[in-house]
Amino acid sequence: NLVPIGRALISVSDKSGLLDLARALAARGVELISTGGTSGMLRTAGLKVRDVSDVTGFPEMMDGRVKTLHPNVHGALLALRDDDEHLLAMAAHGIEPIDLLIVNLYPFEETVAKGADHATCIENIDIGGPAMIRAASKNHRFVTVVTDPADYQSLMDQMAAHDGATTLAFRQKMALTAYSRTAAYDAAVSNWLAGEIGETAPRYRTFAGKLAQGLRYGENPHQGAAFYVDGSRREGVSTARQWQGKELSYNNINDTDAAFELVAEFGGGAPACAIIKHANPCGVATGATLAEAYARAYDCDRTSAFGGIVALNQPLDAATAEKITEIFTEVVIAPGASEEAKAIFAAKKNLRLLTTAALPDPRAQGLAFKQVAGGLLVQDRDAGALRPGDLKVVTKRAPTEAEMADLLFAWKVAKHVKSNAIIYVKDGATVGVGAGQMSRIDSTRIAARKSQDMAEALGLSQPLTHGSVVASDAFFPFADGLLAAAEAGATAIIQPGGSMRDDEVIAAADAAGLTMVFTGMRHFRH
Ligand code: 5GP
Repeated sequence: NLVPIGRALISVSDKSGLLDLARALAARGVELISTGGTSGMLRTAGLKVRDVSDVTGFPEMMDGRVKTLHPNVHGALLALRDDDEHLLAMAAHGIEPIDLLIVNLYPFEETVAKGADHATCIENIDIGGPAMIRAASKNHRFVTVVTDPADYQSLMDQMAAHDGATTLAFRQKMALTAYSRTAAYDAAVSNWLAGEIGETAPRYRTFAGKLAQGLRYGENPHQGAAFYVDGSRREGVSTARQWQGKELSYNNINDTDAAFELVAEFGGGAPACAIIKHANPCGVATGATLAEAYARAYDCDRTSAFGGIVALNQPLDAATAEKITEIFTEVVIAPGASEEAKAIFAAKKNLRLLTTAALPDPRAQGLAFKQVAGGLLVQDRDAGALRPGDLKVVTKRAPTEAEMADLLFAWKVAKHVKSNAIIYVKDGATVGVGAGQMSRIDSTRIAARKSQDMAEALGLSQPLTHGSVVASDAFFPFADGLLAAAEAGATAIIQPGGSMRDDEVIAAADAAGLTMVFTGMRHFRH
């Protein structure tokens, strides 16, 4: 299965590592064929190169749109070396085999990311490159294809170890890398075009995943896992810089994302903190300072916060860093960190610190995926937010200003809690979170009971749900959930409304002296 390399076609936009590779190939007596820019660079470096126009008998034309699209190139890549008819066809048309293809593509993704205009983006859609990559990959039984400069060294190692040849295993690996590259490339083009023509329906979206990192394992140790980025460069866990601590695990990445997305809802407002366990918040709070926000979030559920993930909406400062180090925390993520804060964390070797340049944008459009047997469910990410005028007071009593502020706070949190989600909030801090229960009344009771436990632990005379407000991610189907919240001491409710029994629920709220507002928007999260 060893195939020696006698002739190589090199056509690269990213020219990093090119000269070292070309020199190594030339030293082995490999004939080099190249397109305009690439051959220019190789010649300047003193290497002997044949122009692809010499191979095709055509000049490169139409601004480079047509350079390598020719049977003398594609026949040379696709011909089966052990098929008499293919060999005859090569001989009849003077096609000389190409054994090695080094191609990387026009920088389409980078061009889009730079905000280039439509025509420039179109011109950066590579045609001949993907065509050659796909041809060489199809014929990997005989042809070696390398599409990533990171693989140049392994190619040189292969050839050194096998007297200028490559193994089938290597060619297979390179072919699959190549196909995943062209797949991601076309997905990027497709998604860009969808944006250009204003087509936002998920059915016209293609997943453009690029491997960012192989992970040690998945949700459990027996599951393999990897982390892909989607090319959107959306600020968040995928763009974060890690300052210290072990490599992030699958669960860490998942929870860190949940934490940062939640705290981002508080944007540039008051200092805010979210503490996450298993993708659900066990405490979210604002404060006069970041340290106070953290302390108040921690006080919602100290038991669960142990080993949690902390996200902040402002750069980590020293006072907050001090507080956080008082208990065991897995990850802290923030839009920056002071030198002092970093120094405090440095003493805690296992604590991971991640920083980004900015907060994630909660309103950003994008896709959310969910795997089902044999398929993938795709939907727009939940970028929904209340607009002024969406809220409708449905009870006799209207919320006070303080109640309204807490209701809006609770609603922001509810969006990030697994359904059925019930969140009790008082003075800009969660005081009870009920998540992921199969009935809304269970979530209501669990949240209240946890708050009761916390009150006992803190030595309070009554749980903080007394005088709190409550958010529910979806409507109360019956009055019982609402009454359970009232029993726990809640005075105000925020929920989408829309139940068949809304009238019954509103009447129960009025009878209990509660105030209730409807949002008209649901935030299921399953
Ligand atoms: P160079 O810098 O050598 O002039 O161009 C290299 C780039 O051209 C590579 O990214 C390669 O994928 C691309 N390329 C090679 N052949 C063709 C072709 O026939 N059409 C187009 N549009 N791009 C090509």
